[in-house]
Amino acid sequence: MSVFSDIKFCLKPRCPVCRKGRLFRPHSITVVPRCAECDADLGAHDIGDGASVFLIFFFGITIIPLAWWFENAVHPPLWLHGILWLAVMLGAIALLLPVVKAYIIMLEWRHRKG
Ligand SMILES: [Zn+2]
Repeated sequence: MSVFSDIKFCLKPRCPVCRKGRLFRPHSITVVPRCAECDADLGAHDIGDGASVFLIFFFGITIIPLAWWFENAVHPPLWLHGILWLAVMLGAIALLLPVVKAYIIMLEWRHRKG
């Protein structure tokens, strides 16, 4: 397992065992119960809110300073902050949540006991 194969796995989530079958249901971030290719029990993975919590911390150290800088540089009205940062957050969540969830599942599979 190299860093590049891990990045590829996270960008195009597949079964952590065979790396062929889908990890998520189509158009969703729900983990499939079993791999269609190797029949691995993927439904046993329950990472709960792990990916969401990671992203909350990540946005806290990235988006909040950007909003503070934008306020001091441009002095926009409050409604513009609401629309702008809501759109940025929703877009970033849509892009990053599947990637982070796949990464956590990959790590869980790699380091699980038994
Ligand atoms: Zn598989």
